[in-house]
Amino acid sequence: MKFFRHITFTALALTLIACSSSVKHLPVYQTPDSEQIKEIMPPDGLSIQYLGVGGHLFRFGEDALMTAPSITNPHFLALGPFMPISTDTDLIDQYLPDVSDVESILVGHAHYDHLMDVPYVMQEKAKNSHVYGSKTMVHSIAPAIDKSRLHAMNDSMAILDSPGEWHYNKAKTIRFMAIKSTHAPHFMGINIMTGSYDEDLEDLPWHAFGWKEGQTLAYLIDFLGAQEEILHRVFYQDSASQEPLGLIPNLIGKDRKQVDIAIITPASFNQVDNYPEGIMNDSKARHFILGHWEDFFGNQGDEETRFVRAISSDDFFDRFEAALPKSSNWTMPLLYTTQYFAPHGKILTLDTAK
Ligand SMILES: [Zn+2]
Ligand SMILES: [Zn+2]
Repeated sequence: MKFFRHITFTALALTLIACSSSVKHLPVYQTPDSEQIKEIMPPDGLSIQYLGVGGHLFRFGEDALMTAPSITNPHFLALGPFMPISTDTDLIDQYLPDVSDVESILVGHAHYDHLMDVPYVMQEKAKNSHVYGSKTMVHSIAPAIDKSRLHAMNDSMAILDSPGEWHYNKAKTIRFMAIKSTHAPHFMGINIMTGSYDEDLEDLPWHAFGWKEGQTLAYLIDFLGAQEEILHRVFYQDSASQEPLGLIPNLIGKDRKQVDIAIITPASFNQVDNYPEGIMNDSKARHFILGHWEDFFGNQGDEETRFVRAISSDDFFDRFEAALPKSSNWTMPLLYTTQYFAPHGKILTLDTAK
């Protein structure tokens, strides 16, 4: 046990002191002139704003859903076991856009950089929201949030080819299904902060290692038209996964549709086999968004956003571009930028308008 703990510390330290790389040579997405874009945005369009790490805010007509944002992003020197970390409410007040109408928050896994900010967001910013994730997610934040707003998906998730259950928003304009997935190891095949909780905690975890991974989930999110037709199908994951877990289940009949937008993650991609190729070939998305791509330690207000630590952006992009279907597009959004899509994965740019 002692030896294992030693290895874990070493892996953590090596991951954190590894360099992040510049993205100056890469096309980072920036929000186009939003007034002009809104003029060409169709009423059934979808906007997606990047909130950092695994966070994306989806707006569709009158309805909104988000995946868990991470704004506090402590400096890496604060992340050792038994070093206290907590939500920085001032930073959230400063950087989180208005999410007061968000009905559902999806959580892929329960590590601090995916869950620590969620309780404050639910208490103060998205006061009517419900959160969906693993049983460990529920047990971890039960000390802060009423249980009626917490939903575990372990019993309704898709597993390999077998579909899970759809969960709908109130207006039946958005639905989502969890998919059993995995979390790539952080370094040298070692997954730090692994494990799960079987019962509600008495207090929120207070150090990074207290935020245990739990069952990692991916999601299919459908945005629906008046006849329940699927206008936008989004695949979402917040961690690179080891296939075949994390791939899309076998859906039939009117549930069958190609993925329009797939959100995948460069972080730790080199710690699993055939990633990102596996999920790119499986989803054949018309548009890929890279999430969890930025170096996120103490990064709010940084002048230059850099690529996530411990992986080579060149290696990632060589493989990503080779696997990209010929007719597909992709974007890597800067923090807090918004992308606009017409149905079926067509990104709107000001060139589109000409
Ligand atoms: Zn994680
Ligand atoms: Zn993460």
